[in-house]
Amino acid sequence: MNADKPAWDKAQLADLLAYPRRKMRDNMDVRFCPHAVFYNPVDERCLYCHQDMECKWLNRNDELVSTEEKSTEELRRELTKAMDYVEAQLTAAHLNRRSCGCDNCVWLGKVRKVLGQQQ
Ligand SMILES: [Zn+2]
Repeated sequence: MNADKPAWDKAQLADLLAYPRRKMRDNMDVRFCPHAVFYNPVDERCLYCHQDMECKWLNRNDELVSTEEKSTEELRRELTKAMDYVEAQLTAAHLNRRSCGCDNCVWLGKVRKVLGQQQ
């Protein structure tokens, strides 16, 4: 077993983070956020915020956060969380269709493939 993961593989994982990042940003309601969507672990309002999952994810996966510092495992974990998020937004019509061509389903298909291939 070679411990070094190929570079393309990490870059591919990082690329896939762009779609949920955009989606979460678009969906978030920042009107009542006192921190301009910078998660603050010592603020109670952040702890009980209904958008805490998206907020934490976005803070960890901002494009300014270098993927160099993240392990492949970590990127996979973040992608899995993003998958749950995107899946939760799909209506039954998407899930029932075998090959839906919408952005969400196409992205989910790509992520499943990438995550599955590495197991
Ligand atoms: Zn769909």
